[in-house]
Parts: sequence; structure tokens; C-alpha cells
Amino acid sequence: MYKCDDCDRVFDEPRRVVDGFEGHLYTTEVCPRCGGDSYRYAELCDRCGDPELASKMQYGFCHKCATETWKTYNAFLDALPEVQKDFLKGVLQDER
Ligand SMILES: [Zn+2]
Ligand SMILES: [Zn+2]
Repeated sequence: MYKCDDCDRVFDEPRRVVDGFEGHLYTTEVCPRCGGDSYRYAELCDRCGDPELASKMQYGFCHKCATETWKTYNAFLDALPEVQKDFLKGVLQDER
């Protein structure tokens, strides 16, 4: 699946159009909505199902879901009493 850089449309296959230049016919593949030829490979997020550029995916998560997950994680850590933070720090250091 692909995502258009120009209009953000997501599509499975680009539209093939036949074009001509100085008597030569050739086909180009373009965005089905706006006809632009600038589109990139996209994947669906495991969490929210939204399409995201493949280059921005992190372990199956889109940028938004990855950011939200880290926020939740950090908020969880911040809410812990110091003694539990120290415990987790110790455990995590041991695992390295
Ligand atoms: Zn487009
Ligand atoms: Zn997502």
C-alpha cells in the first residue's frame, strides 16, 4: 500500500496512465486521487490501524501510537514512589 505525498490519499496500487512524449508512448504510475507521482510505501499500524509511511513505523506502531505508548510508560514511572523507582532502576541495570 502507498501514501501520496501530495494529498495523503492511501491506496493499494497506483493508477497506470499512458502518456505520450514526442511520439513515444509510456506508462506512468500515479496517485489515483490527485494524479501526482510522489508517493511512498505505507503500512497499517498494529494499534490504531491508521496507515503510516513505512519509514516512520516502529515495531508495527505508527508515530502517534509510539509516542502515546512512551508517554503512558513515562507517566507510569513518574507516578511511582521513589523506592519503587530505585527498585526498577536496579532491575533494569542488571539486565544490561
Ligand atoms: Zn495524491
Ligand atoms: Zn497507530
